[in-house]
Amino acid sequence: MTYESVNPSTGKLLKTYPEISDAQLEQALATAAAAFGQWKNVGYEQRAVIIHKAAALMQRHVDDFARLATQDMGKRISEARGEVTFSADILSYYAKHAEKDLAPKKLHPKVGKAHMQASPLGVLFCVEPWNFPYYQLARIAGPHLMSGNTVVVKHAGIVPQVAIAFEQLLLDAGAPKGVYTNLLISHAQSDRVIDDPRIAAVCLTGSVAAGRSIAARAGQNIKKTSMELGGADAFIVLEDADLDKAIPWAVWGRMFNAGQTCCASKRFIVLDAIADTFLARFRAALEALQPGDPMDEATTHGPLSSEAALVQLLGQVDVAVKHGARVVMGGKRMDRPGAYMQATILTDVAKDNPAFRDEFFGPVAMFFRVKDEAAAVALANDSDFGLGGCVFTRDAERGLRVATAVETGMMFINNIDWSDAELPFGGIKASGYGRELGDMGIQEFVNWKLVRTANHAAPA
Ligand code: NAP
Repeated sequence: MTYESVNPSTGKLLKTYPEISDAQLEQALATAAAAFGQWKNVGYEQRAVIIHKAAALMQRHVDDFARLATQDMGKRISEARGEVTFSADILSYYAKHAEKDLAPKKLHPKVGKAHMQASPLGVLFCVEPWNFPYYQLARIAGPHLMSGNTVVVKHAGIVPQVAIAFEQLLLDAGAPKGVYTNLLISHAQSDRVIDDPRIAAVCLTGSVAAGRSIAARAGQNIKKTSMELGGADAFIVLEDADLDKAIPWAVWGRMFNAGQTCCASKRFIVLDAIADTFLARFRAALEALQPGDPMDEATTHGPLSSEAALVQLLGQVDVAVKHGARVVMGGKRMDRPGAYMQATILTDVAKDNPAFRDEFFGPVAMFFRVKDEAAAVALANDSDFGLGGCVFTRDAERGLRVATAVETGMMFINNIDWSDAELPFGGIKASGYGRELGDMGIQEFVNWKLVRTANHAAPA
């Protein structure tokens, strides 16, 4: 396998990068391990100078970084800029807050005194997806470098320009060589990295299939992992919802990043009393989107990340329809060059339809009508995934009740404002385990060591 940048809005191959050799990989791991020996002893203050500098460089060169994301995976340029800025914010946040999040915790034993103290684990191996090519890297680099770990990163094969630019960013900011290392490696090499005794822990953001393979391998090596996998989040609309607010969120929830977001709204579950109105307005709003070149600011509907992603999504829609789903709108590739999928709404997806349990990673919404709140919650929970979800209602108490009853790692009431530097992100069930970001995220890969001092005699 090679790392290729192919512009999905044109299909044009921009750049190819060969995988590194086994000897280069060995050198990279040795450098990362040696760097850990130094970096773990560098104080928070010194680490923060470097991470703050990286954030400032990102802010200064937003357009340059954003363009690479748009070229590699087709993200609309305004979204790419937003992602770069957010990534810089994440770096800054951890530069500022890591020391507080990892401060020793005093305990109160009956005898003597005790505390927990955090220390980094070592070299982390991080496998990352293409859909938020900077944010995903900032999400590991900010917290885990600030905690004193070093990281070696395998980014997705289709975003090599971004992968290389981010590594260069940290070097430009003054990170010693080996603190952050981008690895252009194959899956077989990735397996060997997981086995390598110099790797302390492994984290993945990606598909369930990748999670099964990587978590199993790490498990055989008794290495800690965190898994951020797929999702089929419910967008629940109760009959008292403010549709003027809910409809724009529904469009954003399904169409942001051309629908390629783990925690995108994928199942729209709407109470009967309001279902027809919601569906008509949702459809009209989707029809108003403007497909076009993702570099054009006027475009509101960009391409998918690759031709392969489009072919897979079209195949899933076909399977859904063969098993009885009805296409209310869209369902086809657009009649234009590039990997463009029509905004699509499917209804009548029965429980025995394979689509019912599937993740549609693109602009395909499944629409369900239900009789009441309890049925909405039951349907939301009838999923193999458990990442996020949201509920729209004017009644704060009902909102909280539904948010509590839905079995996921994250719930949003009257919004789907998924991610903030300080908010833990992650799921349950097939969506994975562990958290990234927030105080939980930064604590995921540290050793909380118990230290107890007591000078009494040993029991007889
Ligand atoms: P993917 O195929 O699993 O790829 C993700 C990363 O894993 C890529 O770097 C990929 O490398 C690597 N990979 C896959 N199989 C591997 C293996 N056996 N050994 C080593 N590396 C392996 O996922 P995707 O389809 O590109 O991304 C979309 C998926 O990620 C969706 O399911 C989405 O929901 C999920 N996601 C989850 C979150 C979250 O936070 N929960 C966030 C974003 C995305 P190659 O590219 O070289 O194959």
